[in-house]
Amino acid sequence: MTTPLQVETLALGPVETNAYVVADIATKQCVIIDAAWDAPVLEERIAARGWTLTAIWQTHAHFDHIGAVAGLMQANPTLPLALHAMDSDLYDSKGGATMWGVPMEAGPKPTVWLAAGQELALGSLRFTVLFVPGHTPGHVAFFEPAAGVLFGGDVLFRGGVGRTDIPGASHDVLMHSIGTQFMVLPDATVVYPGHGRSTTIGAERKANPFLH
Ligand SMILES: [Zn+2]
Ligand SMILES: [Zn+2]
Repeated sequence: MTTPLQVETLALGPVETNAYVVADIATKQCVIIDAAWDAPVLEERIAARGWTLTAIWQTHAHFDHIGAVAGLMQANPTLPLALHAMDSDLYDSKGGATMWGVPMEAGPKPTVWLAAGQELALGSLRFTVLFVPGHTPGHVAFFEPAAGVLFGGDVLFRGGVGRTDIPGASHDVLMHSIGTQFMVLPDATVVYPGHGRSTTIGAERKANPFLH
């Protein structure tokens, strides 16, 4: 099915985190899913496409996913910033940046608190918020059923799953999230992960060693 959804992938920051600029090209409105790092790079890409940034949606609050929030919000103070409340403590501690020894400027408080099943509009596109804790307590993913795309953050990767050897993480909870929220989606669903190349639900269902 053809939809007006267009995705720009930028791998940014100290651990090459994917920031996604997602647009409805009919209205030229876009959101950033995970403002990972380098606000000026994201702003330049959006300006080059002639799009208007309407919100920042965060899958979770690890430092490598929020590094550009402060810079983007300084330039656009009224921009909605969306996060799940169960990641707000992590967000307030700059996503563990200090623990990892990474200098980072803190952003302002989120203004939109995401919840399971919530619908987010971008032009004619409708994203559903999936609650997928495990890697962090308040991790969410954004699923657009008409376009068949899933922005999954650090939950499911090509041949891998999210790290759970970090504070606040749980492997059992993560696997439950993947099973109940991701593996019920159609095989053709394209998964855009927080790191590395995109994949599909079908490919991971078949060959991901962590799911067998
Ligand atoms: Zn993470
Ligand atoms: Zn990450």
